[in-house]
Amino acid sequence: MPSKLQCMDCKTDYAIDEVRYVCDECGGLLDVIHDWTDITITRELFDKRLGSLQPPYNSGVWRYKELVYPDIDDSLIVSKPEGNTNLYPMPRLASWAGVDTLYLKHEGENPTGSFKDRGMTGGVTQARVLGMDRVACASTGNTSASLASYAALAGMEGIIFLQNKAIALGKLAQGLAYGATCLRIDADFDRNLELVREASEKLGIYVLNSVNPFRLEGQKSIMIEALQQLSWQAPDWIVCPGGNLGNSSAFGKGLKEMYDLGLIDKLPRVAIIQAEGASPLYESYLSDFQDYEAQKAHTIATAIKIGNPVNYQKAVRTVRWTNGVVESVTDQQIMDAKALIDRAGIGCEPASACSLAGTRKLVEKGIIEPGSTVVGILTGHVLKDPDATIGYHSNMLEDITGQYANRLLQVGDDIDAIVEILDKEKVPV
Ligand SMILES: *Cc1c(COP(=O)(O)O)cnc(C)c1O
Ligand SMILES: [Zn+2]
Repeated sequence: MPSKLQCMDCKTDYAIDEVRYVCDECGGLLDVIHDWTDITITRELFDKRLGSLQPPYNSGVWRYKELVYPDIDDSLIVSKPEGNTNLYPMPRLASWAGVDTLYLKHEGENPTGSFKDRGMTGGVTQARVLGMDRVACASTGNTSASLASYAALAGMEGIIFLQNKAIALGKLAQGLAYGATCLRIDADFDRNLELVREASEKLGIYVLNSVNPFRLEGQKSIMIEALQQLSWQAPDWIVCPGGNLGNSSAFGKGLKEMYDLGLIDKLPRVAIIQAEGASPLYESYLSDFQDYEAQKAHTIATAIKIGNPVNYQKAVRTVRWTNGVVESVTDQQIMDAKALIDRAGIGCEPASACSLAGTRKLVEKGIIEPGSTVVGILTGHVLKDPDATIGYHSNMLEDITGQYANRLLQVGDDIDAIVEILDKEKVPV
């Protein structure tokens, strides 16, 4: 049987080639459901493709084609090719966070510098399946950068709705450079998402926000690839930032599918980390998801500055499926963790550092045990938000102290002064 769309709540089925984002019956979010009865899925199948130069298997998404979109025609796939990101063992950061073993999987190493590329290859490929020639999204920045690039590659028009303020410089530059139609709107992300959905309905444009279930199929591959890099031995914890909650939703679905198919022997627990000023999932978690209230979001981590996450229900499902947790961290904790990841030579944008800051906080609270193996997901590249980085190191950020700042040293055209500075031993943090 071909794959289908299915409502996560009332289980109504819809054809895979319908343009549809939510259920007609109940308004619920849709899952892409695959039929694996006639497909053999083994670790060996995917291991055999490692290092392949052959499209689509040279992509870290389409290597797992059987799990992502089994009966897609290869000629429709739009791939850069994405994924194949490194999983770094980080012993020093592990001891800072208080765990035995910490890996950081750097999704900033994707073609446009964030994990969004893994979802975008799925979404733009589906746009081709549907015969669409215009694709659109509202974005805090990385989705639009990715959409702009993939639309250009596929010969489609990319349309991006950006917030007036609060977009990091690198991301704005990418949208313009890749030739998208860029609308800057005096509204926050949550309102822009409503606007893009309305405009797209009126004009027949395909919406590629993470409400689009094909994006989540691509993003599942972060988990599959991480598990393959660990020789299919599941860690105790996966820790990731939570904004619109597409990633955490995709992780739950992907992990459960891998477990049900026997690719992994245990389910890691997923910890979703939100910024304190943009934490509707965390607040809801405190009432065991009985209450939910949208927020007006504030945080320096613009990628997760979202007050009403569209994938809330799917993220709750991830927490339930994996015995997961939700935590929040302050902007100070985010920027300090980022500084440590950066100076370890890895580097990331602010939102990504939730993974490390959250791990440390969950260890302090006794929720993550010190003997654990943790995989933290770094979602975006260090170059995305130079303002935040330079602001931290020059101690110019409002309400944030550059605790681990690397000060820019100013010196005249004077060899004695230069030698005097360099003669001092540098103190490592
Ligand atoms: C989009 C994004 C996030 C948030 O991911 P969600 O899937 O929306 O929760 C976090 N970090 C970065 C760098 C992002 O681009
Ligand atoms: Zn429904």
